[in-house]
Parts: sequence; structure tokens; C-alpha cells
Amino acid sequence: MSIRIVKADLTSLRCYVSQWLHATPLIVAAILFTALPALAEPVPGSLPAQWNTGAEDCQASPQPPLQVHAYEPQTFIVRQSPCASFEANFLYLLIGSDKALLIDTGAVADPKAMPLAKTILELLPEKDGKKLPLLVAHTHRHLDHRAGDPQFAALPSVEVVPFDLEGVQRFFGFNNWPNGIANIDLGGRTVEVIPTPGHNQTHVAFYDDRTGILFTGDFLMPARLLIEDARAYRESGLRIIDFLKTRPLTHILGGHIELNAEGRAYRFGSRYHPNEHRLELAEKDLRALPAAFERFNGFRRVESKTVETIYRLRVSLNASKRAQQGVNT
Ligand SMILES: [Zn+2]
Ligand SMILES: [Zn+2]
Repeated sequence: MSIRIVKADLTSLRCYVSQWLHATPLIVAAILFTALPALAEPVPGSLPAQWNTGAEDCQASPQPPLQVHAYEPQTFIVRQSPCASFEANFLYLLIGSDKALLIDTGAVADPKAMPLAKTILELLPEKDGKKLPLLVAHTHRHLDHRAGDPQFAALPSVEVVPFDLEGVQRFFGFNNWPNGIANIDLGGRTVEVIPTPGHNQTHVAFYDDRTGILFTGDFLMPARLLIEDARAYRESGLRIIDFLKTRPLTHILGGHIELNAEGRAYRFGSRYHPNEHRLELAEKDLRALPAAFERFNGFRRVESKTVETIYRLRVSLNASKRAQQGVNT
């Protein structure tokens, strides 16, 4: 696998093109055509209408701990049952021709209760008589996104990315955080890593060039968005919008579903999610985010027509103090 860092913006290209504004349109078009990479059509896939939504009485109605859905043959969405953990995380397995990438390891450590590593290894294809090497990365350091890490620690051909900020920056080669984009080459499939601090300072999003899916963890999902740093959150939203200007986007898939289809949040800690909101969000949901933060005063809910039906912005007491400092300074 090769990881490299590239500049996040197209400023230099735009400057170059602007010098040619007085040239004939044909010349400018030719420069643009050759300067931008060719974009392949995203591989299509399917999403279920309904995920495993847990149970009112998990003991009386035992649930399988994991739901595995093949979006397409090389992209798997794994949901942890709300009965196994109320967090009910979504994890993502992306398979290339040389390597595979697992995004997050979920909220449950115990392999007996949550056979995550076993399930993931079974999904990995073989190459030259061996399982494909696996890279395990995280959207951010919160425990519900990495509790399963120890299950992978001692496995051969598995590498787990550190979860602390310095470790993330060093592993991916970010030297101007939160600017820059890292590339993970899985073999015939590139996943780009984009810093998205705001919910948590270590947060990153992953963009998959095979499917055109943006994986957003707790940065953007149908849930209450918890804010650690409101200014950083807004700037991450703007950075991602800019990033997507030059890439096709099919879906935005986050780490949890915490709302029902009407946009109402489940009781905190609930292991039953009847009539869940769809997992997938679209670009318009992302576009609503920066404006929502412009109106966010650190405490109140955002009053934004597009956002209020999807998100409930809620801050814990400590986080709200930091968030307000971020807004006021
Ligand atoms: Zn989180
Ligand atoms: Zn989470």
C-alpha cells in the first residue's frame, strides 16, 4: 500500500488557467481536459430499505450481533445490532485487488459477544493462497469506533492505524493538519482521507473512488451531531464541499442512525430503533452543514429548514464551553 499526501486545493491549477483567460477558449479547454484526472463512473450498489433495528426486549428476542450487507461485491456495510450496543455502529469494508480497508471497529470489544475480526476475515478474498492484507483505520478516536481494535491486534497481515491525533497525522503523512489529503492505494481502488475535525479533533472522512461514497463517521450522519469545536466543524464542512467539486458523490454514509424516519431522536441508550431514518445522506445534507454552524451559538439547536429535520445539534456541558469559545473568537 502506498500513502501519499497531496495539496487539497486546485488553486495552482486555477491560477494557471486564469493566466490563459485571454487565450482562445479552445486552448483553455484543452489545458483543463489534460490537467484534470479522468473520472470513472462509480460502481453502482444497493442499500437495504431497513437495517437491523434491535428489539424492545433484546433478551426475549436475541439478535445476530452483526448484519453484513454487500453494497456491491467489493464493498460491505456491517452494522452492529442495537441489542449488542445501543451505539449500533456502521462499519465499512472496502476491498481492492492488493489490500482491504476496514473503517472503524465498533463499540464492542468482546469477540464472543461480537465476532467482528472473524466476520471480517471471512469476507476477505484470498490472493496467492493467503487472505488479502487488511488495514484497519478509524473515523475518530471515540471508543465506539475502535473498541474492536484488540481483536485485530495479533492477526497476521493486519495493520491497525493509531487513533491518537499524532499517530493519525504520522501514519497518513499529514504535515499541515487539517489541510491536505492522504491517499490509500488498495490496488485498483483509491481511498482518500480528508481531515474533518469538529466532532472530535482526530476525525477524518474517507472518500472511495470505486463507489463514489463518502464515509463520514460521526461528522455527518442522521443523528444528533455532537460538537467539540464549532469553528473547526464548519471549516471541515466547507473543506469537504470543496473536495467534492471534482469528484462524483453517490452517498454519504455515517457511523450511526439515531433518528427515526420523521427526524425524531431515539431515547439515549435505546436498543430499539423502530422506523429508522435511512442511513444514506446526500450532498444537499452536507451543503446545509456550514450554514447551520454559522447560526449555531454553542447552545441552541440550529434553526435551519434543511437541517432541523435531520439533525439535532446537542452539546455536552464541557463541549459547549469549548464550542462557544470557538464561535466567539
Ligand atoms: Zn464520536
Ligand atoms: Zn460514534
